[in-house]
Amino acid sequence: MKNDLKSQLKARCDLLKQFGVGYYFEEKEEVQKMDHSTLLKKVKSKIGNCKLCDLYKNRTNVVFGTGNPNARLMFIGEAPGEDEDIQGEPFVGRAGQLLTKIIENGIGIKRSDVYIANIVKCRPPENRNPKPLEALTCLPFLKSQISIISPEIIVCLGKVALEYLLQRTEPISKVRGKWLEYNQIPVMVTFHPSYLLRNPSAKGDVWTDMKEVMNRLGIPVPKRRNS
Ligand code: SF4
Repeated sequence: MKNDLKSQLKARCDLLKQFGVGYYFEEKEEVQKMDHSTLLKKVKSKIGNCKLCDLYKNRTNVVFGTGNPNARLMFIGEAPGEDEDIQGEPFVGRAGQLLTKIIENGIGIKRSDVYIANIVKCRPPENRNPKPLEALTCLPFLKSQISIISPEIIVCLGKVALEYLLQRTEPISKVRGKWLEYNQIPVMVTFHPSYLLRNPSAKGDVWTDMKEVMNRLGIPVPKRRNS
């Protein structure tokens, strides 16, 4: 990591501390008494009108995350797009509708039973990828969410989620379909739904990856979809 990025990150970490992030890891006894929903609301309120990175300048809404606070399965994408920025909810545009189909028609569970979040909570201009400083500044919020929810499995959607959650820079095509790990939680990496919209032929690979997830969760794969 370059020195200038390191020093900028240290400044952001100091800000995050002042901001209250870290509280959830520091006061474990108090945390253990709270339910997941309460803890997530606390993190959300800590984010509030966050201005820790430049992405706040163009956002309409902070897109915190949505779903079951006790989810067994968590999906992590990269960043809100235009629809998500307007509605304040992740994965509600075309890519989000495809993700909902993958969850509900493919895996066979309700979207509201999983938890969905992104690496950054504010929309990057023109839907560009988050810059390293933006992603690394926002990451403690996501890590708090993962720590609270404690999912049995995480699915990383696309390269940005892989890069910042697992610090791996290989192409998705090289790592998808293999089990990786984040803080002892099994992680399946697969293509981002927006990639599938551009490359429908990759849907079969995503289905293969979701069958791995289903097997690990003990969800039966229906015969007609077991191909
Ligand atoms: S992207 Fe994250 S760190 Fe940056 S302003 Fe939004 S909430 Fe804050």
